[in-house]
Amino acid sequence: MKRTTTCGALRKADAGKTVTLNGWVHRKRDHGGISFINLRDRYGITQVVIDSDAPAELAALTAELRNEFCIAVEGLVRSRPDSMINPDMPTGEIEVVAKKLAILSRSEVLPFQVDDESEAKEELRLTYRYLDLRSAGMQRRIKLRNEVAFAVREWMTGQGFYEIETPTFIKSTPEGARDYLVPSRLYPGKFYALPQSPQLYKQILMVGGFDKYFQIARCYRDEDARGDRQPEFTQIDIEMSFVSRDDILTMTEGLMGYVFRKTLGQFLPAQFKRLTYEDAMERYGSDKPDLRFDMQMQDFGPYVADGGFQAFKDALAAGGGGVKVLVVPGKADYSRKQIEELEAQAKIYKAKGLAWMKVAGTDAAPALEGGVAKFFGQSAQTICSGLGAKPGDLLLLIADSQRKIANVALGAVRSKLGRDLGLTGPGPDGTPRFEFVWIVDFPLFEWSDEESRWEAAHHMFSWPQDQYHATLEQDPGSVKGDLYDLVLNGYELASGSIRIHDPVLQKRIFNIVGFDPVEAEQKFGFLTEAFKYGAPPHGGIAPGLDRLVMLMAGETSIKEVIAFPKNSFAVSPMDNCPSEVDRKQLEDLHLAIVQKE
Ligand code: ASP
Repeated sequence: MKRTTTCGALRKADAGKTVTLNGWVHRKRDHGGISFINLRDRYGITQVVIDSDAPAELAALTAELRNEFCIAVEGLVRSRPDSMINPDMPTGEIEVVAKKLAILSRSEVLPFQVDDESEAKEELRLTYRYLDLRSAGMQRRIKLRNEVAFAVREWMTGQGFYEIETPTFIKSTPEGARDYLVPSRLYPGKFYALPQSPQLYKQILMVGGFDKYFQIARCYRDEDARGDRQPEFTQIDIEMSFVSRDDILTMTEGLMGYVFRKTLGQFLPAQFKRLTYEDAMERYGSDKPDLRFDMQMQDFGPYVADGGFQAFKDALAAGGGGVKVLVVPGKADYSRKQIEELEAQAKIYKAKGLAWMKVAGTDAAPALEGGVAKFFGQSAQTICSGLGAKPGDLLLLIADSQRKIANVALGAVRSKLGRDLGLTGPGPDGTPRFEFVWIVDFPLFEWSDEESRWEAAHHMFSWPQDQYHATLEQDPGSVKGDLYDLVLNGYELASGSIRIHDPVLQKRIFNIVGFDPVEAEQKFGFLTEAFKYGAPPHGGIAPGLDRLVMLMAGETSIKEVIAFPKNSFAVSPMDNCPSEVDRKQLEDLHLAIVQKE
């Protein structure tokens, strides 16, 4: 009883045909002798009817059916009477009257119902992932993922890019995270590493003359379980030769525009907004601001001197400090408890406290009330017109002797307000909003207190902007790189940079980040060697495919768009991976397990 059609295909015009369907029992209902089965497959759901006059054998088989039995049904397509039409189902105008039925496979009692609204806990969903994958939500998201990947390949190929595979067994080369290692059986004591990204290989492909490369590439990073991370994830890895930063941004805008149009029918602006890293930090307190709402932070510094508030004055006294303010429109009615919740958020980001004032009075004569208003009351008019604050608004302020702390902590308050006030929801017509923004001109180096040295902010292969080349070593902290991030709705969607293609400059960067020259030669010698043979100027970017599909699907976890993800502890509960291996396997690999005390 092989299927002649799928469970999503039949329409009114098919009435009168005899068909065979294969699928799963989604629901079964018995109505005094008549049974209805919602039969489901990847394509949809069709209502199957077992009439009260069905032969005894058919009735007996029907009685046996339980949810998720896999069955075959042969029957006659019949139009439903008008009163029975289900407008919510594409197949809702017909039903199939069963003539023959076969049970292809039975199902045990289910650990949870296969259902979009499934309340099942994540661990259970991952343990029985095959059941979870049958749900409408997972089916829809995996379909979207396939469509996105296809659209990427279609667009990139159309633009003259080659998809080229790079190895998954590579030399262990530090790229920011910890490597996953694969022991070599043939060479005792030696290891391959799984790539954190194809970074070095794509750069070497540029030296190899393939000036437009892309790859939907798997990346592996052995990081501590934090937030929504997966030990393996997928990037749309891209590299181009003979390009400037703007060429890469324009290419990426074209790619995103195509993918959103093709898969969601959503039109994106031809060019995305751009913010420098400095502006992003000053205005939004984050290098991945959510621009679905505006509410920008402002500098309260100019008003500090006239007020009598010592804590604010102290923050600015030594230079390098900041007092930042957020005007929250119409929220002067916020309770003390709500403000305390916001303060708790600010404190996670090292703020000492969250000061506040409320704007009262009239447009012509605004007044400041509550909180720290007593220190600034006399300047209410100047402050309110300077900040664009109106009666009914709430002012939230953070001061710190480190400006970055004031920015980041108030930025976290802004993000919480965005969620609390529902500012990140869909547009007025109910469609999701996608706010892209480029963050450019990142610092090339960051100081690591932990390691007491400069570290590469992105990775060590990024090009310092030309004006800093002469003075790199003198003041690494001031050097800006040709680095860019693409941010979507508050998530970092892609990172990239123009790369170094000059072996001498590359060695200077290794030196600044404190890489021992001998070690640098051992680890990256092959790259600097390649650069000695006519390396073209090049640059690239790598949008995360999981995150892209997650945001397009309106989800908040990448696990929802990966068929077989690991849980938050890097474990796959379905197949119990990672797992122990045989002694023999360890011996073959020249490995012994050392138990720590
Ligand atoms: N390889 C980089 C990363 O994974 C992206 C890039 O610079 O192209 O973050």
